[in-house]
Amino acid sequence: MTSFNEYPFLKELGLQEENLGLYNGKWGGSGDIVKCVNPSNGKVIAHVKGATTAEYEETIQAMLAAKTKWQLTPAPKRGEIVRLIGEALRAKITPLAKLISLEMGKIFIEAKGEVQEFIDICDFATGLSRTINGQVLPSERPGHMLLECWNPLGLVGIITAFNFPCAVLGWNAAISMICGNVQLWKGASTTSLITVAVTKIIAEVLEKNGFDGAICSTIIGSGRTVGEQMIQDKRFGLISFTGSTEIGKRISSVVHGYFGRTILELGGNNAIIVAEDANVDLAVRACVFAAVGTTGQRCTSLRRLFIHESLYDTVIERLKKAYSTVKIGDPLVDGTLVGPLHTQSAVKEYTEGLEEIKKQGGKVIVGGKKIEKEGNFVEPTIVEINHDAPIVKTELFVPILYAMKFKCLDDAMAWNNEVPQGLSSSLFTNNQMSIFKWLGPTGSDCGIVNVNVATNGAEIGGAFGGEKETGGGRESGSDSWKQYMRRSTCTINYSTSMPLSQGINFDA
Ligand code: NAD
Repeated sequence: MTSFNEYPFLKELGLQEENLGLYNGKWGGSGDIVKCVNPSNGKVIAHVKGATTAEYEETIQAMLAAKTKWQLTPAPKRGEIVRLIGEALRAKITPLAKLISLEMGKIFIEAKGEVQEFIDICDFATGLSRTINGQVLPSERPGHMLLECWNPLGLVGIITAFNFPCAVLGWNAAISMICGNVQLWKGASTTSLITVAVTKIIAEVLEKNGFDGAICSTIIGSGRTVGEQMIQDKRFGLISFTGSTEIGKRISSVVHGYFGRTILELGGNNAIIVAEDANVDLAVRACVFAAVGTTGQRCTSLRRLFIHESLYDTVIERLKKAYSTVKIGDPLVDGTLVGPLHTQSAVKEYTEGLEEIKKQGGKVIVGGKKIEKEGNFVEPTIVEINHDAPIVKTELFVPILYAMKFKCLDDAMAWNNEVPQGLSSSLFTNNQMSIFKWLGPTGSDCGIVNVNVATNGAEIGGAFGGEKETGGGRESGSDSWKQYMRRSTCTINYSTSMPLSQGINFDA
């Protein structure tokens, strides 16, 4: 028995109790069955059938067959298709966001924001499809011209994490499509119903407009099966991976082993520094949103909070008060601010993490308990701990915030940088000297360096990603499109002589 019929919005998305989880221009799949579970009560919502090894190969062949026509379609026409995908998402934003809340567990307004991110990146990519450009450079040789040409990579593999089961596909696919690539998406298997629903929306647009659906193929399956097949498949010009640092290391070692290309968007361990001169109201609001939003399951969630000693007690008291009013419950119910953790194993990570924190000298000052009711609910937690406790340097993907006191801002900046991850960071200050130091060479070493805003909630216009064990990749805005294309440097001789570069004389 499933609880499928309790959720009428699933039918609006064309979903059924039993779904096929392979799309390559046509729907199929005769592999393993994935159970789609509601993290708020542990009940099965629906089933999705994945693909077999043979069906994976059929999908790659369908993608290869679709490749040339798509590559030769003018970029602005590809942009128009991406614009229509954005329109189709706009039309389905409410049921899709409800499904994200249901299967992933984030609250409805955050889920809606996630679909909006996909829509926004479609708008961005549509504009970009008319502005992708290469440089024209002066040649040292008379009658010659140097220029850069950008061409598609061909096949792109997109592997995504459970926590942004819709937007991360968008960041990649919208850009990759206007660049002229055909893509295969493997979402997290615990968000398979979302993967099917998003794929249905994209497939309908492609098919209605006379394009081969294999341009945006999807296979439901686990990392061990489909994921491994993808990363070992040299036919992909790029593997874009969003997920944990642990799996990212595996992907890096395999793909870079054959000199393949990757975009790696891996784990974070993000910090906020509240300086002596900070606006405390702003800082507290930002910290609560960043630490408890999405139940601490954003890659940019706030994990480490460094507070100047003069403000420490005030900030902690205000946080305690805010945490006590946060409503925890069903993410589809109005007013809920914190939904469940995504899986039972995340609840285990939370409880075992707290045990380890205590062993390493941490003291729980807010929360600290699993909530004893059905579903994967836990209390958002604040812990006082030393900045150099080993556990502080790891990413626990649950709502546990480490609070630490500092005397000197330089120390706090150094502590921000002392972890292996380098995704997001923020400084709360009104001092312009501190701001520019923070942005400069001895400031934050992260890919996202904010001032007076939270560590999370990035906009699609900027390139998104982080340094060190966060993988170094950039997705979404700015010039991240370059990663989805190959650059050729072209020299054109429009003269009737053959001068050589560097003044070489080679008369044959
Ligand atoms: P995960 O690493 O467990 O899984 C991510 C994806 O990789 C899933 O689709 C999974 O099936 C697949 N996978 C697993 N093993 C594989 C293999 N051997 N080969 C190929 N694919 C494989 O991550 P998760 O638990 O889904 O997500 C949480 C993690 O993702 C956190 O560490 C979070 O910080 C990170 N994340 C990072 C960003 C970012 O942009 N930096 C964004 C979102 C999430």
